[in-house]
Amino acid sequence: MLRPLRFQYCPGLRIPATALDMGSCTKHQIFMKKMNALKITLCSPRGFCAGVDRAIQIVERALEKYGPPVYVRHEIVHNRFVVEGLRKKGAVFVEELAEIPPTDAPVIFSAHGVARSVPADAQKRNMFVLDATCPLVSKVHVEAQRLSRQGHHIVLIGHKGHPEVVGTMGQLPDGAISLVETEEDARRFLPRGDGGLAFVTQTTLSLDDTARIIAILTERFPDIRSTPKEDICYATTNRQAAVKEVAPGVDAMVVVGAPNSSNSMRLVEVAERSGCPNAVLVQRAADIDWSRFEGITSLGITAGASAPETLVEEIIAAFAARFDISVTSHVTARENIVFNVPRELRT
Ligand code: SF4
Repeated sequence: MLRPLRFQYCPGLRIPATALDMGSCTKHQIFMKKMNALKITLCSPRGFCAGVDRAIQIVERALEKYGPPVYVRHEIVHNRFVVEGLRKKGAVFVEELAEIPPTDAPVIFSAHGVARSVPADAQKRNMFVLDATCPLVSKVHVEAQRLSRQGHHIVLIGHKGHPEVVGTMGQLPDGAISLVETEEDARRFLPRGDGGLAFVTQTTLSLDDTARIIAILTERFPDIRSTPKEDICYATTNRQAAVKEVAPGVDAMVVVGAPNSSNSMRLVEVAERSGCPNAVLVQRAADIDWSRFEGITSLGITAGASAPETLVEEIIAAFAARFDISVTSHVTARENIVFNVPRELRT
């Protein structure tokens, strides 16, 4: 579905030309005529998901209600711009609870979730905790525990070291859960014990890679159980689906996001595998390597689930300063999911 959104920027002033009296901007109009045309297609949905939106709201509301500082364990979401914005408002980011001095201030767990040992440690330290774990990550935790209680050894499909994986592995005792990252891992995996097997997945994986890993596990272990509903979340699914449709028709694809954002990195891979020869992860407009975009006439833009729309706008403006752009939106799904903040923050 294509929705025209044509707008034009004055390259000299870098503001939308609709805001200018073009009659007084002749010089730039002449320059604009010389710029190469660039058709930008915005993938939709893109950017913030309900889990990220909730996590940021939790920090902001905690700052409003309790005043600074509020402590946040790990980057609340994987985006430097968001983290810096919250830091300026009074959020203090730490990697471990031990870094936090004795305090009554709220301690917030990030959207990626934490191992069970972390809330237990916070309780020992008498901390006031607000949990910003995305409810869709918590759902995977609950499922892993349920399947384990039923006697299954759990296979977690995910990326080693990602905080969500650390949190999900940490829902179960050592030895009760094994990590499988690749198809090769799935081929080599040897179950422990005589009980059944079940798998859960990280929420932000490539749908296609994960399907291949699951196919190998299912072929090797036909009785392997899984959760009733797909663990890869709606936001990951929708953003990848939009990129799959746009990528084959553009010369380049910009994914706005951070290198430590799993879902953003997957969008780059999905774009490449869907036939886009030039997929680039970009954090800010200032980071763009313009040599990657020389001679292009069409560009797709998407954003990972932790990248705010303001960064997409910044990047469009940067292209508008160099090309005569027209912008359309390619919509593959509408999202209306909202997650409530914890009860303590609702008033
Ligand atoms: S990407 Fe999915 S799992 Fe992660 S915070 Fe967003 S909705 Fe939740």
